[in-house]
Amino acid sequence: MKILETKLLADCAADLMEAARLLQNGQVVGIPTETVYGLAADACNEQAVRQIFAAKGRPADNPLIIHIAQLRQLQMITKDVPKLAWALAERFWPGPLTMVLPKRSTVPDVTSGGLDTVGVRMPAHPVAQALILLSGSALAAPSANRSGYPSPTSAEHVMRDMQGKIAAVLDGGICDVGVESTVIAFDDSGTVRILRPGYVTEQMLLEVAPHVILDPAILHQVGQGQTVRSPGMKYQHYSPRAHVTLVKGSCEAFAAYFLNHAEAGAYALVYDDADTIPGVPCLTYGTNGQEQARQIFSKLRALDDLGVEQVYVRAPDPDGIGLAVYNRLIRAAGFEVIQV
Ligand code: AMP
Ligand code: MG
Repeated sequence: MKILETKLLADCAADLMEAARLLQNGQVVGIPTETVYGLAADACNEQAVRQIFAAKGRPADNPLIIHIAQLRQLQMITKDVPKLAWALAERFWPGPLTMVLPKRSTVPDVTSGGLDTVGVRMPAHPVAQALILLSGSALAAPSANRSGYPSPTSAEHVMRDMQGKIAAVLDGGICDVGVESTVIAFDDSGTVRILRPGYVTEQMLLEVAPHVILDPAILHQVGQGQTVRSPGMKYQHYSPRAHVTLVKGSCEAFAAYFLNHAEAGAYALVYDDADTIPGVPCLTYGTNGQEQARQIFSKLRALDDLGVEQVYVRAPDPDGIGLAVYNRLIRAAGFEVIQV
């Protein structure tokens, strides 16, 4: 069906009902979650899921995460769930943790990108939970950006990317976490492999899992033809129109590098006001991992709004949730990282 105008819905009972009705009719709706906004459709409706891929321009082999609101929905879409997964669900759900598990045939191949596994999470955002329950279906929802562009953390970001392509966007405010969920898989009964870092860190997972390993593709570029555990790892991601260079080092070293190397018109993205470089146009994105996660995507989008062509970003400390921010930024920078 051709959509002419995307409706902006509010967080109120009438609009939630409207969004649920659209989802039941096989339409795509932009929804808030605590991580980033998602592009949601009934996960088991093939036609609806195809519209998500079309709206984003997402490669068909990059699987979608399924969002549930109750544990019984997990049993409807997955099988052979290891004990450790139940323990992790108990500790981290609802919340920003996605688990890759064997899928049942109820999940169409288009949703799982042709894989026999599926990523599942239970979001903590009350609007996302209400919509899953009201619509009566588990919702497939990738980030609601155009494929390759920074993820959206406000309804306005989604509107900009998806106007005319989807039925509606439900405004649930600014996303609290700001980066996508931590994605994990199970290598064996006691080992968790982090495929994508997020708010739930290695340290937090170790409170429940005996062994946690970081997949090497988190920090390193995947070579041509190399097999990956998570298809999303091989694609260009999170990039604004501006060319991004990531610079690792102290505030002083960063400023010196910028002053010696940056071309006219370049911007700097630094931690806070104390870091700004006199005479240089700067934006800030926070001083700790949580602040940086919350702000990174909106600041990359803001640079595009300003028409910036070159931006030098002072790299975050890749520790705790900072690893998630670092992981997004190295991809935005096409793995161009400069140590100063
Ligand atoms: P997005 O929906 O944009 O947050 O991206 C979802 C991420 O989860 C992508 O990097 C996918 O490759 C990954 N993912 C989803 N399902 C699976 C799966 N079954 N196996 C491995 N990775 C998955
Ligand atoms: Mg995404």
